[in-house]
Amino acid sequence: MEKDMTIGIPRGMSFYNNYPFWYGFFSALGIKIILSDPTTKQTMSEGASLVVTETCLPIKIYLGHILNLIHKGVKNIFVPSLQSIAPKIYNCSKIRGLPDLVRNVIKADINIIEPTLDKSAKNQGLYHFLTESVKPFGITDFSKIKKASKQGWRVYNNFLVMMRSGMDYKKSMHYALSGKIFIEEQDKTKSSPINVALISHGYNMYDERATMKIFDKLEKMDVKVYTALQLTDEQLDEGIASMGQKKYWANEHEMIGAAGNYLKDNKIDGIISINAFGCGPDSLMVDRITRKAKECSKPLLVLTIDEQTGEAGFITRLEAFIDMLFRKKRSKIIDNISVAEYDYVPQTNICDNLITEKG
Ligand code: SF4
Repeated sequence: MEKDMTIGIPRGMSFYNNYPFWYGFFSALGIKIILSDPTTKQTMSEGASLVVTETCLPIKIYLGHILNLIHKGVKNIFVPSLQSIAPKIYNCSKIRGLPDLVRNVIKADINIIEPTLDKSAKNQGLYHFLTESVKPFGITDFSKIKKASKQGWRVYNNFLVMMRSGMDYKKSMHYALSGKIFIEEQDKTKSSPINVALISHGYNMYDERATMKIFDKLEKMDVKVYTALQLTDEQLDEGIASMGQKKYWANEHEMIGAAGNYLKDNKIDGIISINAFGCGPDSLMVDRITRKAKECSKPLLVLTIDEQTGEAGFITRLEAFIDMLFRKKRSKIIDNISVAEYDYVPQTNICDNLITEKG
């Protein structure tokens, strides 16, 4: 029987930040990728029905995507265990134990492809991880795996270059997957009235159902959004240092690092942080971000999401926050106008002089 050379990738968790790499890597080895469909209400409710209520929303969504792949008839499903992404930098226990969780709650005849990445352990680095990812397809030739990883990095780097140039997530992903790199000319004369840093995990903010198309909504409100994916690793490290933090959590980069960086250079008017209800690491990180935002006098909106979050309440809070930022900025402009008027006083002196001369 011919080997099944397809792999199902759930649209959840690391998919949002890492998919360009996986696309380049698996495609280079002749493995066809089948993605689960974008998140819907059904994805959420089906996933949520498998675990206890307190489980965070991203995990419920992830499980819903596994079910979606099973409904599509996919047999090989990629569920990596991302333990540690750098020495002594760990992911949360749910991300680390993802394959075990899936195996325990989903009883179906599937082949879970579960490579482990653990850069804090011996011999569990990237190449070990990649080799484990393709072993079930009978691919063991290390030189081929290495070459495919280069293709993965190429696609991934193109994606990052476009993100960092200011292109939006969907377009950057689209061009990167089509093997293109395209840099949009930014209109330097056009500045957005309001600039906001959106602080969240990629799997929250880029899942259009989980965060209710927040990017489109903010764009319609004339708000320019900055995220962690627009920053380099060095900038994120500087952001963490500026918050007086030491890295421990893998996702500290995209939360603390991004918040610290955007607060540091004062280019934003406010911060919106979106967190999953029941997320332990987020509650610690948001606490730190809240204190720093206060120190920097930057308004902060914290939105907590779960599968019950209604769009109406979400939008109302978002609109009220943006409205407040607009009012704050407007009053700053008015304050500046009064300073300008004050500077105008010398003209009066000229008149006074004229009067004196005449007199
Ligand atoms: S970091 Fe938080 S949101 Fe992400 S999987 Fe862990 S508990 Fe869930």
